[in-house]
Amino acid sequence: MTLFRNYTSTTEAVKHHYYKMRSNQTLEHVNRLNHKYLDFSRKMDFWDIIKQLEDFVDVSDPDITLPNAQHLYQTAEKIREDNLPDWLQLVGLIHDMGKIIFKWGNDLDGTTIQEQWSIVGDTFIVGCQLPTECVYPEFNVNNPDMKHPIYNTKYGIYKPKCGLDNTKIAFGHDEYLYQMLLHNKTNLPIEALYIIRYHSLYPWHSGNAYQHLTNEHDVKMLEWVKKFNKYDLYTKSNKIFNLDDLKVYYNKLVFKYFNNNTLLDW
Ligand code: FE
Ligand code: FE
Repeated sequence: MTLFRNYTSTTEAVKHHYYKMRSNQTLEHVNRLNHKYLDFSRKMDFWDIIKQLEDFVDVSDPDITLPNAQHLYQTAEKIREDNLPDWLQLVGLIHDMGKIIFKWGNDLDGTTIQEQWSIVGDTFIVGCQLPTECVYPEFNVNNPDMKHPIYNTKYGIYKPKCGLDNTKIAFGHDEYLYQMLLHNKTNLPIEALYIIRYHSLYPWHSGNAYQHLTNEHDVKMLEWVKKFNKYDLYTKSNKIFNLDDLKVYYNKLVFKYFNNNTLLDW
């Protein structure tokens, strides 16, 4: 069996990505990018976005170098094959669509194909101490917030057990898509929205960090995040799907959960 997320033999590009992400994603950076990117002023078709993700290869992923669109088809199709709820199949198809911000991003923000450190990669909470459960924990000291008298404390700006929804997380495709779905008033269940918002928060869902900040709701949702994560990771392969074949089936789900509409605000 292939070992996934093995960072010991990974490329320099992955490591360099994490160095930049950890060094630049401060509380101030996250506030600035939330303000700048969560405006949803573009009307774009759902299937156009999927198509455009054929141009995006995730530099932080040590496992695969396929375009993101293929990863979305593979994830969704495996969830469908296992007869899981249709909304979870749709989560498989859409969970990484937030990466589309590379189309209107810039290098300084880390939102382009060349500079992806505000789009992809395992996320972490900003405004409090960075945990050792982060991938490449040796880069934690490079984050300027770790010299701040409050941000470098266990709780930082947060109250004990405040819940993940009350924290601020490194900016990337998770938060972008979560906010986009709220903005477009979809009919997706809260489990779906939750999975999308936290699927990259590996220090928490896989490393067990942040137990002092999570609440009962997070504990309840964790099993869904973990269930989804298996499909996000272990469906990666070089099997190529054709969009036209899949569209017939998934368009029904898009209509069901997106109010009979594929034209959305991005
Ligand atoms: Fe993702
Ligand atoms: Fe993914």
